[in-house]
Amino acid sequence: MPGIATESVVGQLVDRAERLFPGGVNSPVRAFKAVDRPPLVIEGGNGPHVWDADGRRYIDYIGAWGAAILGHGHPKVIAAIVDATQNGLALGATHPLEIELGEAIQLAMPSLQRLRFTSSGTEAVMSAVRVARAATGRDIVVKFAGSYHGHSDGLLVEAGSGVATQAIAGSAGVPEAVVGKSVVLSFNDPAAVTNAFASHAGGIAAVVVEPVIANSGVIAPAAGFLEHVRETTRANGAILIFDEVITGFRVASGGAQARLGITPDLTTLGKIIGGGMPIGAYGGRVDLMDLVAPAGPVYQAGTLSGHPLSMAAGIATLQELTADRYVGLEDAAAELASGLREAAAAAASPATVARFGPLLTVFFRATLPTDSEQALECDRSAYARFFGSMLDQGFLLPPSQFEAWFPSMAHGPDDIKATVTAARVAFEEAGR
Ligand code: PMP
Repeated sequence: MPGIATESVVGQLVDRAERLFPGGVNSPVRAFKAVDRPPLVIEGGNGPHVWDADGRRYIDYIGAWGAAILGHGHPKVIAAIVDATQNGLALGATHPLEIELGEAIQLAMPSLQRLRFTSSGTEAVMSAVRVARAATGRDIVVKFAGSYHGHSDGLLVEAGSGVATQAIAGSAGVPEAVVGKSVVLSFNDPAAVTNAFASHAGGIAAVVVEPVIANSGVIAPAAGFLEHVRETTRANGAILIFDEVITGFRVASGGAQARLGITPDLTTLGKIIGGGMPIGAYGGRVDLMDLVAPAGPVYQAGTLSGHPLSMAAGIATLQELTADRYVGLEDAAAELASGLREAAAAAASPATVARFGPLLTVFFRATLPTDSEQALECDRSAYARFFGSMLDQGFLLPPSQFEAWFPSMAHGPDDIKATVTAARVAFEEAGR
């Protein structure tokens, strides 16, 4: 395992970070534990690139975990933020930019008849679940194994993303009583959904689902699966929550709900709508959202909610997201996926590439997983070798088998070609 020379700036910063933060990081996946590499300290980013504190530049596919759809440091987004600072920072009252971003989101996603901004995706999903419980007077929340909905207690059970990366079933510190209110099913298993509603008749408040799982790597919904979830929730008086924190404004401006033609009752958003600044949002049917205080009895609040800089960055980002740019992004992702498939085949690597729109994952297993149980069967050490080879060649992939790649609109054809060329070598090295 190549170590970082201690005289390197990155090495020194990692040493200091390890004395400060648990595991040296402020979010677990950043520690690179799943890929047998020392973590990076990333100092900056521009377009498709990021560079570390030693000045090494990488083509980046982490993409701020999905927020950086325009690439890093887009000039119009930066200018909008700088402009907004002229009026101060958090002001503690409704700001005109909140209304502007809210209207832009609603225009793209009409199912959000009312919405509320939060400071993170975690808060958005936690609050949407609270609304669903209040609306139904029921407690149980159904979720799918390998999805990630933020780190609120009840949603950490069998979660994906960093939870799956650490190979733990959930989290310590979550009371049994809370775990007991979560029912976890396999994704793409319609019978499991039917059965859950039969065995918890009258008890299920909500089904929360990533319409395309991105937190076990990318797993697309099978034909008819989400339609079945929609029909079953409706028939049983339960609330359907689409967690579009990743898919919103990523797989289409209207999110997965527009692309798949399924309307949830509530939707959660984050990442792209804040253009790289802290944000979350939840919204949906007016009768449900009017339960939220001060319109109704469900309490939810935030000192920094609707922060003017997040609003400014979000508005500037959404303005850039024209239909033709989505086509360009998807073409680039398709080109990348087919190049990666060819590279894997040329190296006789047992890897498959899952892609849904612009989201993709290289899975080290022979066939595409249809649920997280199958995703977990991947050869993680092969992924670690693949990751390491790509990193050494100047390409920063998600440091876990169970995360999506996020190509951005700033990744040009040459970046994609270079990535595929490097992957030819990396698939060979992954097989050793
Ligand atoms: N939902 C999904 C689908 C996510 O991918 C994430 C974060 N990756 C969250 C919720 C939580 O968002 P945040 O990290 O902003 O709290």
